[in-house]
Amino acid sequence: MADCSTAVYRPRRPEKSALYQAVVRNLDLFYERYDDRFLAQHGPLSARAVKTLEGFGRCGRVAFGLSRARCDACGNEFLVAFSCQLRGVCPSCQQKRAEVLCRFVVDAVIAPVDHRQLVFVLPKMLRSAFHRDRELLRGLCRAAVDATQAFYRAGLDRKDLSVGMMVVPQLFGDRLNAHVHLHALASDGAFDPDGQFHRMPFGMQHDIKVLQRLFERRVLDMMVKHKRLSERLRDDILSWQHTGFSVDGSVRVMAGDHPKLLRLVRYIARPAVSFERISYDDSTGNVTVRSAKKTGGLRPVVAQYDVLTFIALLTLQVPPPGTHMVRYFGWYSSRSRAARQTGAKMGETSDSAPPTEVQPPGAKERRRRWAQLIRQVFEVDPLACTRCGAEMKIVSFITPSQPEVLHKILDHLGEETEPRATGPPKWLQILQAQEQMDEHPECYPEEYPDWDGDDSQAA
Ligand SMILES: [Zn+2]
Ligand SMILES: [Zn+2]
Repeated sequence: MADCSTAVYRPRRPEKSALYQAVVRNLDLFYERYDDRFLAQHGPLSARAVKTLEGFGRCGRVAFGLSRARCDACGNEFLVAFSCQLRGVCPSCQQKRAEVLCRFVVDAVIAPVDHRQLVFVLPKMLRSAFHRDRELLRGLCRAAVDATQAFYRAGLDRKDLSVGMMVVPQLFGDRLNAHVHLHALASDGAFDPDGQFHRMPFGMQHDIKVLQRLFERRVLDMMVKHKRLSERLRDDILSWQHTGFSVDGSVRVMAGDHPKLLRLVRYIARPAVSFERISYDDSTGNVTVRSAKKTGGLRPVVAQYDVLTFIALLTLQVPPPGTHMVRYFGWYSSRSRAARQTGAKMGETSDSAPPTEVQPPGAKERRRRWAQLIRQVFEVDPLACTRCGAEMKIVSFITPSQPEVLHKILDHLGEETEPRATGPPKWLQILQAQEQMDEHPECYPEEYPDWDGDDSQAA
């Protein structure tokens, strides 16, 4: 049984951050005022958004419970707070996710060829349709991939080529405004069925307008197909000189430039908000947002919001449940990668490809891989024994449902008990009943991020 003599592993104190204070101090007020202030503009507050905000308020906080890690080799024990692992708000969990993704992409996905970052932007009038719509978001990724594939095939004049591509939908702009767009990393050329890479001929690379035309056509057709746009409006938009679509392909990474590749993937997978970009004045209720990009070593202020508007914007960054936020296509799709691993050629990876290769890993395997990845990306491994370095196991949990034990530990640490820890607020209880949200123990090894994307194969 864990008691107050057990050491507590505390890598950070989230409650000290401005972001935490802005969000958590105002959550109840936010729930209370949501319908009046934001319902018309943003639609009903989703159960997922509530869960994500509440999860952020608990993430890394010992007052909301701990797990007990034990080293079988030497008997060492320590306690570690739960982390929320939720996407959209918590910068700490998303940062970890981004780091894991970086390692995975660089080690297991990317071929040693030149790459290009592609940014696909939609016209303002169409963007809102993509928020909260998983199908449409998937269609958007597909449109970008099909357009890119067609672009490289045309440029290289071969129909059997396959581009390698990773696509990440981003739901936010620099001011944390809702702004759905796509970031992609694409091989700057394409692979033939024998695995030979064909580099794009010089000149074509700069003809990004062609890619843009291909992209806009596919997006508009897809929206018509999903009945989200009339054929007439599509034809109108296509006749305009400035459709509002844009594709940027100005950032290139040469084969072998690992540091730049890592920087780029990290940038593509970055969370909407990070701790250092937010300041909060509790007396005025104003939140100041600084740019994700530094100018002359400083981050310029890009927006100021009253705190409730700020929280409402954060909820827009919460992806719909089950959405894959990282997708791999074509030469980089997991099907294609698995086929190569088993020695098969691209052309032979039809439906007869062994399904075991592309099935999502089982829970045990996921835990093992997750723990392995965690070890790779953390300077201090919370699951490595601080005494002997052996792997520690999570052996039990101390939750607010065991108030005596938890209070004893908090007392010992000089931590206050937390009123929100006594149970979910009324609001959350109602939503839970409504949507039957799936509850899972929120601690490291039980979950893993969606770094394996989906198995989509580019046509
Ligand atoms: Zn978290
Ligand atoms: Zn040990």
